[in-house]
Amino acid sequence: MSISALMLVYVALALGALSVVGIFSELRRRRFGPAHPEDRVFRCKKCGNVYTDDADVDRSRCAQCGKLNEPVVY
Ligand SMILES: [Zn+2]
Repeated sequence: MSISALMLVYVALALGALSVVGIFSELRRRRFGPAHPEDRVFRCKKCGNVYTDDADVDRSRCAQCGKLNEPVVY
């Protein structure tokens, strides 16, 4: 086996390991990320846009029109 073939195998293995790590971190992020139970839900009084923000935010700015909104309380 030549040197260049060895380097190709090495690079392919490194890329493979990187993509495996990326897939695992992506799966972990999906499991705990978007469905964050502490997130507050906001509904814009101006344009009706529904969005979420962190729980420690009392008022959040609408991403569409920029109006500050109170969190929706269930
Ligand atoms: Zn809005």
